[in-house]
Amino acid sequence: MFSRQSRIDHRNPLRGFTLIELLVVVAILSLLVSILLPSLGRAKIAARAAVCMSNLRQYTMANELYANSFNDKYVPVLTAWGVSETGHDHDPWMWNSTYLELLGSPDLRLNTKIGENEKLWCPDLTQASTYRSGFVPSYGMNMMYVDGYVSFENLWMVDRSRVERPSVAAEITDCTIWYIYSMSYADYVLRWDVKGENHSSSIAYRHFGGTKVNVGHFDGSVECLSRPEAWHNDPAMDEQLWVIYGEK
Ligand SMILES: [Zn+2]
Repeated sequence: MFSRQSRIDHRNPLRGFTLIELLVVVAILSLLVSILLPSLGRAKIAARAAVCMSNLRQYTMANELYANSFNDKYVPVLTAWGVSETGHDHDPWMWNSTYLELLGSPDLRLNTKIGENEKLWCPDLTQASTYRSGFVPSYGMNMMYVDGYVSFENLWMVDRSRVERPSVAAEITDCTIWYIYSMSYADYVLRWDVKGENHSSSIAYRHFGGTKVNVGHFDGSVECLSRPEAWHNDPAMDEQLWVIYGEK
């Protein structure tokens, strides 16, 4: 006479899977893989965009520290080389040792090759844009419409006390050169930076498959903007994104 327990023991616990069970398991696993793999890819893309946004925030914070030390003037973006205001470090930010020290990356300007020394570089920078002797820019600071329109004299220092919409105006973005100063240099139709292409000067839509650009604002906030959000070919429609001082 078998007890209930012995009957259970009598069933073969090691009988293995039937073919049907195996097929069901395989089907479920392939379903999971097909669901998870694309989302893993998307997670990596989103992670790279997030690293870039964190970088941009650090650039804006370093610029606040710079302005604290230089009478409310942000670090020069584009300068008449060799021309300096008394007591002002006149180098553009990429070469400005004070700014790079504040950024905690004094050797940033030495970045010459993708794959080397990429601290604070956009992780989606893969294109081969170069400027002068192999220099590879990753971000550009906005110098557009500082005083309604660009003139060489007002390019080089943004006055913090005059930035009227710090949470709206763009300070620094993904870019293929270290400054953005004219419509033609940020024209998303003519000069957008698609991964793998090589354009000398442009805001760069590197993220999410070449569809979005990260934009750091003067209040330290960072946005990831689509092409239509970042540029309409009509700056008046950009809700003053590119306008640093007052109304355009
Ligand atoms: Zn980026």
